[in-house]
Amino acid sequence: MTEIEALMNEHIRTLKPYSTARDDFKGKADILLDANESWLGGSGINRYPDPRCTALRKEIENVLSLPFDMTAITNGSDEAIDLLIRIFCRPGIDSVMIERPTYGAYRVFADLNGVEVIDARLKEDYTLDIPRMEEVMAQRKPKIVFICSPNNPTGSLYSKEDILRIADANKGITVIDEAYIDFSGEEGMWRAIEGNRRIVVLRTMSKAWSLAGARVGIIVSDPEIQRAVMKAKPPYNVSQLSQQAALDMLSRKDEIAGTLSQILSERERLSSFFRTLPFISEVFHSDSNFILVRTFDAERLYDYLAARSIIVRNRSSEPLLQGCLRITVGSRDENDKLMEVLDGYSL
Ligand SMILES: *Cc1c(COP(=O)(O)O)cnc(C)c1O
Repeated sequence: MTEIEALMNEHIRTLKPYSTARDDFKGKADILLDANESWLGGSGINRYPDPRCTALRKEIENVLSLPFDMTAITNGSDEAIDLLIRIFCRPGIDSVMIERPTYGAYRVFADLNGVEVIDARLKEDYTLDIPRMEEVMAQRKPKIVFICSPNNPTGSLYSKEDILRIADANKGITVIDEAYIDFSGEEGMWRAIEGNRRIVVLRTMSKAWSLAGARVGIIVSDPEIQRAVMKAKPPYNVSQLSQQAALDMLSRKDEIAGTLSQILSERERLSSFFRTLPFISEVFHSDSNFILVRTFDAERLYDYLAARSIIVRNRSSEPLLQGCLRITVGSRDENDKLMEVLDGYSL
C-alpha cells in the first residue's frame, strides 16, 4: 500500500466508482442513445456534462500552468473541502486541524462529517504558531491540516517556509487553500507537491476569475489523490453551463489581468484612506481582494454603513479579531461611495 492509500479511508480505497454513460463511451459518434437524454437541443445542455471536465482541465493547464493529471474540478472549493474530509477522515475517529481565525467552511464540513476539529490559534500578528501546531500534530495526529493562505479574514499570506514546515511535520494531508492567491503576486505552492505528495492545493474561480455564481473549484494534488477525488465526487458535480462559463472566462484572461491590477491599485488606495480615519485603529496588510480593519466599535460602524446601503463583514466575534471588519475591494465607483460615506462617520 502506498503512503497516500494508507491515509485514505478503506471504503474509499476500495470504492467501485459509478460508471456513467460518458465514461463507458469516449470518442465521437453521430447518435447518442446511451444516456437517456433528450434530443431537443437547448444551449448545449440537453446532454450530460463531461464528468472529468477534460476540456476545462486542458485549458486550466494552458492558462494557469496546473498539470492536467494533477487537477480535479469541483462544485466550488467548498465541495473540495467536503470531499477531502470524506476521503481521508473517519467519522467519530479522526480529526482535522484548522487555524483560528480562518475561513468558516472547514469547521462546518468537518462537523457535517462527524470529524473533530482541533483549533490552532494564530499568533497575535496572524502568523502561524509553528511550535504549537507541531505539538498538536505530534499529540493528536490530525488526518488533515487546513492552511488558508492568503488567510481569510486576516488577508495575508503565510511564509512558504512556515507552510512547508507544517506540511513536513504533518504525517497526514496538508490542504493549502489558495482562493486568494491571484491577488498576492505569488505563484502559490502547488510545485511543492513534488517534494511532499501529502500536500493538496485548492484554487477557485470564484474570486479573481469572477465566477462565484458558477461554482468552479480546482483541486491540485498528486495524481494518486486526484484519482481518489475523481472516484469519490458525484459524477456530474460541475454543470455544463459552469464548465462553459469557466472556459469562457479563461479565454478572457487579459481582461481578468486588467481587472486584477485595478483591484490591486484600489486596495492600496482604500488602505491609505482607511489609515487617515480616526475611528480605524489598525489597517492590516492584504494580499487578497479584501482589507481587514480594526475599529473602536465594529457594531456601530457596521450599522452605520448598512443604514447607507453598504454591507461589509463583521468578524469581531472571532478570536484575535476584536473590533474587526472585513471589507471587500469593490469597483472604483463603489470604493468612492464607501469613502464618501466613511468621511461622514464620527466617533
Ligand atoms: C471564497 C473562498 C473560497 C471559495 O469557495 P468556492 O466554494 O470556490 O466559492 C475558498 N476558500 C476561501 C478561504 C474563501 O474565502
